[in-house]
Amino acid sequence: MSDIQLNHLAIVVEDLDAALRFWRDSLGLTGGSVQSLPAEAVDIAFLELGAARIELIKPASSDSGVAKYLAKRGPGLHHLCLEVPDLEAKLKALRDAGYELINDEPRERAGRRYAFVHPKSAGGVLLELYERIDKPR
Ligand code: ZN
Repeated sequence: MSDIQLNHLAIVVEDLDAALRFWRDSLGLTGGSVQSLPAEAVDIAFLELGAARIELIKPASSDSGVAKYLAKRGPGLHHLCLEVPDLEAKLKALRDAGYELINDEPRERAGRRYAFVHPKSAGGVLLELYERIDKPR
């Protein structure tokens, strides 16, 4: 078994309330409190799914990357996030193997570091790699 785990699947939506009515109120997932991330111009909500989560993402401005994605491709699956024990090492391994990263350096937010791998390198899937930095050692 590898030490990599599914952390979340992210879905781009046009309407967070409507998405929460489906995923939470009707399907029965729990969670779903909405957070605004002004730095990325998105509003997000996480729903619990066993050890993993579903992240709903709605653009908060019309010129954000996610807004452009939504305009071009419509709502749907946006990225897959895997939790890795050592993000720097994974990024280096991928870079050394010639794969294309969107973030060469990890970004940091609220107890986690993360970086995106280009879909070109991951079979057409936008891949987020994530490392907890508040984990007990
Ligand atoms: Zn994500």
